[in-house]
Amino acid sequence: MTHGSGPGPHIPSFILLILLLMVLKAGAGGYETCPSVHPDMLNVHLVAHTHNDVGWLKTVDQYFCQVSLPLFPGNVRNILNSVVRALLVNPTRRFTYAEMAFFSRWWKLQNKEMRKIVQDLVHQGRLEFANGGWVMNDEATTHYGAIVDQMTLGLNFLENTFGKVGRPHVAWQIDPFGHSREQASLFAQMGFDGIFLGRVDYQDKNIRKRIHQMEQMWRGSDSLPPPTADLFTCILPNVYEPPRGFCWDILCSDPTVVEENGTSVYNADMVVAQFLRIAADQASHYRTRNIIMTMGSDFHFGEAERWFKNLDKLIQLVNAQQQAKGSRVHVLYSTPACYLQELNKANLTWWVKQDDFFPYADAPHEFWTGYFSSRPALKRYERLSYNFLQVCNQLEALAGHAANAGPFGSGNSGPLREAMAVLQHHDAVSGTARQLVTDDYARQLSKGWGHCEVLLSNALARLSGAKHKLTFCHGLNVSVCPLSQGAAHFQVLVYNPLGHQVNWMVRLPVSEGHFVVLDPNGQAVQSEVVKYPVVDCVKHPPELLFRASAPPLGFNSYSVTKAPVKKPQPGSTTSSPQESQSSVLVIENEHIRVAFDNHTGILKEIENRDQKLVLRVQQTFFWYNASRKSGAYVFAPEQLNPLPISFSPEIHLVKTALVQEVHQKFSDWCSQVVRLYPGQRHLELEWTVGPIPLDDFGKEIISRFDTELKTHGLFYTDSNGREILERRRDYRPTWNLKRTEPVAGNYYPVNSRIYITDGNMQLTVLTDRSQGGSSLRDGSLELMVHRRLNSDDQKGLDEPLMETGPDKQGLCVRGKHLVLLDGTQTAAAGHRLLAEKVVLAPQVVFYTSGDSLGRSGGIPRRKFSALHQELPPAVRLLTLALWGPRKLLLRLEHQFAVGEGSLSSPVTLDLRDLFSTFTITHLQETTLAANQPRDRVSRLQWTLKTGPVLRTLNFSMDSAAITLQPMEIRTFLASIKWKRSPRAWDTALRARAPSPKGWVNSCLSILLLLL
Ligand SMILES: [Zn+2]
Repeated sequence: MTHGSGPGPHIPSFILLILLLMVLKAGAGGYETCPSVHPDMLNVHLVAHTHNDVGWLKTVDQYFCQVSLPLFPGNVRNILNSVVRALLVNPTRRFTYAEMAFFSRWWKLQNKEMRKIVQDLVHQGRLEFANGGWVMNDEATTHYGAIVDQMTLGLNFLENTFGKVGRPHVAWQIDPFGHSREQASLFAQMGFDGIFLGRVDYQDKNIRKRIHQMEQMWRGSDSLPPPTADLFTCILPNVYEPPRGFCWDILCSDPTVVEENGTSVYNADMVVAQFLRIAADQASHYRTRNIIMTMGSDFHFGEAERWFKNLDKLIQLVNAQQQAKGSRVHVLYSTPACYLQELNKANLTWWVKQDDFFPYADAPHEFWTGYFSSRPALKRYERLSYNFLQVCNQLEALAGHAANAGPFGSGNSGPLREAMAVLQHHDAVSGTARQLVTDDYARQLSKGWGHCEVLLSNALARLSGAKHKLTFCHGLNVSVCPLSQGAAHFQVLVYNPLGHQVNWMVRLPVSEGHFVVLDPNGQAVQSEVVKYPVVDCVKHPPELLFRASAPPLGFNSYSVTKAPVKKPQPGSTTSSPQESQSSVLVIENEHIRVAFDNHTGILKEIENRDQKLVLRVQQTFFWYNASRKSGAYVFAPEQLNPLPISFSPEIHLVKTALVQEVHQKFSDWCSQVVRLYPGQRHLELEWTVGPIPLDDFGKEIISRFDTELKTHGLFYTDSNGREILERRRDYRPTWNLKRTEPVAGNYYPVNSRIYITDGNMQLTVLTDRSQGGSSLRDGSLELMVHRRLNSDDQKGLDEPLMETGPDKQGLCVRGKHLVLLDGTQTAAAGHRLLAEKVVLAPQVVFYTSGDSLGRSGGIPRRKFSALHQELPPAVRLLTLALWGPRKLLLRLEHQFAVGEGSLSSPVTLDLRDLFSTFTITHLQETTLAANQPRDRVSRLQWTLKTGPVLRTLNFSMDSAAITLQPMEIRTFLASIKWKRSPRAWDTALRARAPSPKGWVNSCLSILLLLL
């Protein structure tokens, strides 16, 4: 490696004067600090940057601190120190930084003097933040709620630290492996002017280069009126790498610039010539007289001076050609926002894109569609943690400071919020980090849960008026809960984080015997103890089933007592599995009838009795034989047809008053329970897969539904759990696909649901975590539930996706698919309302009277609601969280899209007297990430090929009555006064009308992962 041996940056004095004036002019951050360009030249914007993965080959701590692992470079603390030092050497230098998980940590370590220096650099636009989220989140496997949370955390760190001048103007998604449309919509609603993308399918990119569509407008929503969800999109020329030959980091081997003419290592002329060639080529694919080059890569700038010194020389040498040789190329230090501003000034008319950037392939047989399903246990743990964080946030908001400092110690939602933000990183929930790092992600989540559990104990003590030490059973998914299995008398508190009342079946592992369950009013609830056949990798103790309900944003407490005698108690039964004797294998309730093939035991027909719809559906499990190209990122099956695990599973039938189940054992490592509860409108398929046996091949396991629906190549998947996108097999909406991978190239991310329809009937499958899914034949849909691979896919991880698990035998994973058969016109009401119950499921906690710290007086409250009335069905309470002293963050959203039936109409609700534990005294509406008032947002405007955009963004905050349009999310900072008297809450509860509505009827039991 040749180090530059010339003198320090040599810049002609007249340029220095201009530069000095430029710097002096600067002073407000943002666009006004941008460097001048030459309108009559090709302006090359050099963006010095470092890409800092928040965990990947090393853990977050290892990357931040001085932990050096020879094969895995990266020392973020050192990078930031080094960058600040180098920025001070030359006032024209600029640097772009993105990851607040690291920056905020570094900031905390700095003294007052250093903070002042950095504030000045930000003020002058020399240090610019792009994206500004806690992490650069993945876009395929993330849920929109968690994306909004992580962006809120990062952007508000910046707002509180630097004020308006630190606010990023652009999103910077340079490494995620494909890009979702919902992400564009969310960024637009956060006030960003544009987004920069690094990875776009190689075919798509080649075509775009040819037709000059590397930059265009991206319309992120079919429902929100433009330009609400419009985001200007720039595809970077070289992912996020420097041009070939111009990588001047200590991690690179390109020769540095040597200007000493006559020496054997002189290369300045060659460097300039090569640069001009690359610039001209790049400019030929873009539309304006400005192009952007990313100067940096993974964990670059550990020795920033080396990078900057060479860039200084490059700028000086290339710009000197203007005088010397009449070159029309001007090179400058710039930032993504400054580059975007020049595109905007170009005043061109731009194409509009309305689909997304999935799936992503970087070569004909390398589709990055495996990570949609990689590490299913982590993906479930992340989704459960989202659920738990919302419960934690809500209870902190409802109980006020009593939640943070109470009888059970210091409760804090912060650690889980930060851990969840870290999990959104594009190598975290995506399942593409090394095993050691993945374990560390799980550890961070678990630590966060601990802090929230204290908070919940304090908050519920305040709201219930009784200081019970709560027990949290994390093993309910595998039927493990020492308290319910050991105690003869205990209480089950069911907290419902939704704004709607819920009813569902509670299932608890218990010891043998009979139990009496009483509701909050002391009335006996029908219950039964069910014994289950063992068909999978988990032991099955008897389970107590009873139907519970919980009010909106509130709880009900149920008391469970083991009967002293063996004689069954009223309403209490014990049931054992029945072997199938009947000639017709059927499970049914008042809404659904499900038939199985008598000979094979495989699901064969679903009937929706309310709508008189019958569909033949065959569902079973297959595995793809993974080729050596399949890895944590890539899905590359060796053969196109997957192999069946079994077409004749071993069958057990369980039919009791409270549940009907068919247990199917397909193999020692693949089983399923097909389940119906009374009153339930969907069919529940609980699959258990693993440990996947490894032989010569890796295996990628799918659950496949085959029907006779005429689907004409079409199927539908959600985007980050929100809007729905139409998918067509072997087709891309904006370019002609040359098909290379008939299976992997048709896989799409499924965050929450996938469906097929023939225009009359719709078969929808909801997932409990992100998975990859497709429809490879008409009438068929499939979801990849688990994968275990022998080889690495050569995308940098350098480790096969083995997931050996705690016993080194391989990970056993359990999850649920919820299946709905509906008329196409009415299907949205079913899947939208069910999806919110999956994402925000009730939280079940336990206590015994022996664990009480003593009552605060009076009888403990056994039921509570923080809402005076239920929210309308179309409205979801997306966020309720403490924001500061007497301030809450409140997000309400319309969860239906335009054209999704009667629930798609705009909804108005009054916030004034909505909550029972506090009164809202003032409301301020903000952007989606709550870092700027909505009425002060001014985004760049663009001229579009689709014609002018009507800018009717009027919204009124004259009263507390707000209207939500389809798919609209509105974010508020609410000043509040807590009602100190619990009597006031009770009044609220009594005033609340009961909710007899059918749509709240749901039976979601606790879905947990197997770790
Ligand atoms: Zn990355």
